[in-house]
Amino acid sequence: MILAPELRAQIEEIAGRYPDRRSALLPALHLAQRSLGGCVQADGVAEVASILGLPLAAAFGVQSYYTMFNRQPIGRYHLQLDVNVPAMLAGADALLAHLEQVLGIRAGQTTPDGLFTLSTVQDLGSCGTCPVLQVNDRYYENLTPARADELLTHLRRGQMPDWQPEAAWGSSCNILLRRRGNPKARELAEYRKTGGYQALEKALGMTPEALVAEVKAAALRGRGGAGFPAGMKWGFLPKEGNRPVYMICNADEGEPGTFKDRQIMEFDPHLLLEGLTIAGLAVGSRLGFIYIRGEFAWIAEILERAAEQARQAKLLGNDILGRGKEFEVLVHLGAGAYVCGEETALIESLEGKRGCPRVKPPFPASAGLYGCPTIVNNVETLACVPTIVQHGAEAFKKLGTPNNHGPKIFGISGHVKRPGTYEHPLGTSLDALLAEAGGVQGKLKAIIVGGLSVPILTAAEAAGLKMDYDSCLKAGTMLGSGGVIVMNETTSIPAVALRAMEFYAHESCGQCAPCSRGSHTVLALLRRLVAGRGSQADIEAVLHLCKRIKGSTLCPTGDAFSVPIEAMVRKFRPEFEALVR
Ligand code: SF4
Repeated sequence: MILAPELRAQIEEIAGRYPDRRSALLPALHLAQRSLGGCVQADGVAEVASILGLPLAAAFGVQSYYTMFNRQPIGRYHLQLDVNVPAMLAGADALLAHLEQVLGIRAGQTTPDGLFTLSTVQDLGSCGTCPVLQVNDRYYENLTPARADELLTHLRRGQMPDWQPEAAWGSSCNILLRRRGNPKARELAEYRKTGGYQALEKALGMTPEALVAEVKAAALRGRGGAGFPAGMKWGFLPKEGNRPVYMICNADEGEPGTFKDRQIMEFDPHLLLEGLTIAGLAVGSRLGFIYIRGEFAWIAEILERAAEQARQAKLLGNDILGRGKEFEVLVHLGAGAYVCGEETALIESLEGKRGCPRVKPPFPASAGLYGCPTIVNNVETLACVPTIVQHGAEAFKKLGTPNNHGPKIFGISGHVKRPGTYEHPLGTSLDALLAEAGGVQGKLKAIIVGGLSVPILTAAEAAGLKMDYDSCLKAGTMLGSGGVIVMNETTSIPAVALRAMEFYAHESCGQCAPCSRGSHTVLALLRRLVAGRGSQADIEAVLHLCKRIKGSTLCPTGDAFSVPIEAMVRKFRPEFEALVR
């Protein structure tokens, strides 16, 4: 046995929390990896599988799917540099070159003394504070080459410094980022002092039908990207039946440009817990999950701590505030797979499997987690629920524009003076947001307004845009997650397209050919073009493939790259042609 008896007992204890022991596979592999010095080899995986009573192949299949699980030894400090689009715009490539030079190794290698392994990663959810380096399970943000040198000096002395990022933020709504500037706000006492859990108290006196009706009346649109009305989604659950209902919070934000859910979880965890609990009461669920991306391990700890405080105060558990209602929450850590942001892939992952999307129908509302009715809502969506319940749908609808109600967090990254998160009503003008972020550095060339998967806009197209779902659609793009990536005149759009494709080709789960083969083919074509070895035919091939891939894949990932890449080539075609000449 290579796992310590205490660790085996811990895995047993975790397995007992889930309705199905297999769900403990990801947490168990995380624990094993941490205790075995950063990598789990065949004997460790076999032991985890035997504790959980799983076939060996199932455990190997899962371990090899997720990028955070290491199967080969790594250095004592694993330095993982985010190099995707927002990081690239903030200087990550220069930082990578610097790190390679001072460490004397290339990305993917370990220093001869075994102290450092250097890797590049595709997105750390830190777009407003990049360049960012993840060292083991800790983030170091706003890095410059000089600051990175300082960090390496600490690490060589065996110290992991506690540096806080300088993250800009602002809020005119004071709903989702209300407690953002208050370091004590994570504490239950502070949250309650400022009105926290009053909505839950009110919800306990309402019927589930009344709660669903209130959220429906507020026309709360899902903030994860699709903008689908949350109340309507809740209404899809079967009206009868004796199967348990599961409520899942999707906290797997991992698309370059998107870093807004993190702010809620990190600085106002009880707001999310309150929203999730009310949602659980509304849909008749007794067990909820927060599925959070694996890189946010320290935020998962914040959520765990908040959940324990809530349990102690009888705000969670089997008799909430003595009113006979039951709801419990488990925080579940993912392990590095962008596709798990898709709800059926997330469910598969939560069941302890590879995060591969399912064929729909059936939809999760009728057959989701463990085959039971399941609702999946995004963090920001759930964080809007307490204010709807407490102040009513009509008050909520006063914010925003028709059909686009409520507050929205916009994450602004790239070429602005104060990248960060800004909360404003839906429908706020893009110009005002950019002004609040300190204005564009240089001259605006192009902008992506909803995370990397939405079509790019030229500066002219973006002028006067209102940041809501319908206005963005009208302008030929999507609001998506509200992740705004700003590019000035120095930006090479072919380089942005190539970096975007590196992300999607890396993240494709491999289930369907148009996405898995298509993404790698488009990537190869873009690589050739950017290297100056491409031809006009390559440009046409990119456009042709993007057109064919659109709408032909099992999950939205195919569209997530084909639509934006096609827009980049179409709108900035002279730049691609210049590479050919
Ligand atoms: Fe997997 Fe891509 Fe197909 Fe989605 S579209 S199921 S990510 S291969």
